[in-house]
Amino acid sequence: MSDSSFLHALVGSMSQGAAGNPTVAMIEAAFAHHGLHWRYINMEVTPEDLATAVRGAKAMGFRGFNCSLPHKVTVIPHLDGLGESAAAMGAVNCVVRRGDQLIGENTDGKGFLRSLQSLQDPRGKSVVLFGAGGAARAIAVELALAGTRKITVVNRDQIRGAELTNLLRERLHIDAEFVLWKGDYTVPADTDVVINGTSIGLYDPEARIPLDTASLRPGMVVADVIFNPVRTRLLADAAARGCRPLDGLGMLVNQGIICVHYWTGIEPDAAVMRAALEAAMGL
Ligand code: NDP
Repeated sequence: MSDSSFLHALVGSMSQGAAGNPTVAMIEAAFAHHGLHWRYINMEVTPEDLATAVRGAKAMGFRGFNCSLPHKVTVIPHLDGLGESAAAMGAVNCVVRRGDQLIGENTDGKGFLRSLQSLQDPRGKSVVLFGAGGAARAIAVELALAGTRKITVVNRDQIRGAELTNLLRERLHIDAEFVLWKGDYTVPADTDVVINGTSIGLYDPEARIPLDTASLRPGMVVADVIFNPVRTRLLADAAARGCRPLDGLGMLVNQGIICVHYWTGIEPDAAVMRAALEAAMGL
């Protein structure tokens, strides 16, 4: 049998309710396009079985796996180490086998950063970030590591918002401010990038972010983590104000690109992966 007919490696996704995950199509499209005889499989894992599942993946020689909710934080004690940003944010979405070790990385924020860099390098820029949950934390940490000048965290829950702001100040030493979100937020005029890192807008194209859209200025980058729908109300409002909109699909594709790179060492074709993802989502 020729070498090319062997299945070379497995990676996977450990989640609950994994069925129909469109990222499977995206990752496998990359493997196929680059002639890699790899498979990416969904594995439904309960919280009680997580430790056994991680040991099993290691024993079976998996090159790595993704972790979705609710495993992003609880997987950490079962790993051999963490990358820099995963350690700072305390969450892992991508596990990579390096030698005989399983190392936890976080590619959500890196995916966002790469998507943002197609429009705007955040170095020296001022950012307003709505939200302080997992996605917002990942984005904030990566923006701080990339040299962002200032991050204003706007969040409804005081404790989560203050926690993220303290992390940015104390661990990453950047200028960070917390604003408790009450009523419509007015974006300061010197803001370069506005990001919705909340779940507002998911599956609801009419959902409105409490924000004074008149404070959005032409030229600002306005980004959304929401990728379903791709065109959110925030992005439509931002485009109408002359801002530069950035959709959440770019973050999703780029986090996948970085995972494939970590697992395989190749730089996968972004267009192939985005097309496969869009097809799987029926876009
Ligand atoms: P979390 O549950 O960890 O956090 C949700 C955040 O949204 C919190 O800050 C919460 O505020 C805020 N929020 C929710 N509803 C409201 C509301 N009505 N008003 C004000 N704030 C609100 O979720 P994640 O951070 O994991 O995910 C957030 C979104 O990001 C999801 O929709 C997810 O699909 C998307 N996502 C997209 C990715 C991509 O690749 N594009 C990757 C990862 C996530 P509070 O703290 O006050 O409760």
